[in-house]
Amino acid sequence: MSQTVPITVAYGDGIGPEIMEACLFILKEAGARIEIETIEIGEKVYLRGNPAGIEPSAWESLRRTRVFYKAPITTPQGGGFKSLNVTARKTLGLYANVRPCVAYDPFVRTKHPGMDLVIIRENEEDLYAGIEHRQTDEVYQCLKLITRPGSEKIIRYAFEYARQNGRKKVTAFTKDNIMKMTDGLFHRVFDEIGAEYPEIEKEHWIVDIGAAKMADTPEAFDVIVLPNLYGDILSDVAAQIAGSVGLAGSANIGTHAAMFEAIHGSAPRRAGQNLANPSGLLLGGVMMMVHIGQPDVAERVHNAWLATIENGYHTYDIYKEGISREKVGTREFAQKVVEHLGKKPQQLKAVSYSAASGVTRAVEANLDRPPAHKELIGVDVFLHWRERDPNKLGEALKTLGDERLALSMISNRGQKVYPDGLPETFCVDHWRCRFLSPDRTPITHQQVIALLGRVAAAGYDFIKTENLYTFDGVEGFTRGQGE
Ligand code: NAD
Repeated sequence: MSQTVPITVAYGDGIGPEIMEACLFILKEAGARIEIETIEIGEKVYLRGNPAGIEPSAWESLRRTRVFYKAPITTPQGGGFKSLNVTARKTLGLYANVRPCVAYDPFVRTKHPGMDLVIIRENEEDLYAGIEHRQTDEVYQCLKLITRPGSEKIIRYAFEYARQNGRKKVTAFTKDNIMKMTDGLFHRVFDEIGAEYPEIEKEHWIVDIGAAKMADTPEAFDVIVLPNLYGDILSDVAAQIAGSVGLAGSANIGTHAAMFEAIHGSAPRRAGQNLANPSGLLLGGVMMMVHIGQPDVAERVHNAWLATIENGYHTYDIYKEGISREKVGTREFAQKVVEHLGKKPQQLKAVSYSAASGVTRAVEANLDRPPAHKELIGVDVFLHWRERDPNKLGEALKTLGDERLALSMISNRGQKVYPDGLPETFCVDHWRCRFLSPDRTPITHQQVIALLGRVAAAGYDFIKTENLYTFDGVEGFTRGQGE
């Protein structure tokens, strides 16, 4: 029997306190060996004037226990408040978001009987870096960052999860037909790491058709691993089509800490009425019990919960005349789960957990890769230019290049417009002007700076530059559409 494990608990806002109370009651009745440190986060903290929604003392608790059981919180409307979820995930390095999405037919109505998939979403990168800029009157930009270590960690995590949980297939969704470098890296790392797991089937779908297939035939999937944005969207779709957002729990796993929660929000309109379904938070708690080395408790709770659902004790959100036996409130539901402790479901598949199963521990990326041989061969200079004639800009910029850095093309929103553009192409006030070393031999930073000096002296507003490199001789940049 393992020793008592300290965990940090936040009761949250809206329905949070009710469902957290219900879950802790069930976990304790099931014999959870936990010692609770409570912290305050969310609405009250935001409204006290802390834009992060969390006090420094709360971080101390989290850094001490490294396990966070979190009820949903309300993010106040209006500007200036930072999402606490994003802050917690990033500060604690919780890179893997694990969301099992399971149908409980015929006991909970679903269009997809048999659905049983796990979404593993990358949690820290992609468009969520929050690096956004307004560059011109007409153009705003958000940087999409996909890294090799980040991709390696999440993809290896997905394969380890599959292996440890007896899952047969891992599918990746990307849009690498369009984003050849960023999503292309994610896909390539998926292929590389997948090769180390010969017993697991692998497949890759372009995210649009993959998402359509998942919404139509979710039972065709097993584990799906996704970059952050696609994962954010598709994990909600998957939870919803499984039956109800009220049923899904989620784990956020990092090297130093882990956070367990429901996927739904604080449902303020349902708060304080003993109505809310505590199941999502409870299933998050089940993953937490596995994570802290108490799989016996996780198994008891999960099977009791399945038996309760199967026996028809349902909160309002899943209650259906003819299927359910009794409509129960939050507290009564928790009481029913406790009464079912020790029981297993008869029709639904009972679960079993061991020390080796459930939520996989964080895995590390290989940071010892030798650096590539990197050569600077050009620069993209982005201009804010209010006129609309690309040929005029092209002819003027040509004279600013020299024998080491010559203008090779201009694109507008990625579409090549000079030389040989078409008058039909719509242009905004944001021009990417590519200067390249004509023979692709390396240039120096000084040559780039000298070019920028000439561009500025000629009266152009350069809003940013991107250096153009080769890595081991391979171009580290894409060509313009039509180049
Ligand atoms: P929500 O998930 O709170 O509610 C969506 C719908 O689902 C509502 O109809 C609600 O009544 C129902 N619902 C949600 N959980 C339920 C449960 N356990 N039992 C029964 N019904 C349930 O989403 P929202 O209304 O968009 O957001 C409300 C607040 O929650 C917002 O302030 C939002 O920022 C916050 N939020 C927090 C988290 C989090 O803390 N992890 C996640 C999402 C939203």
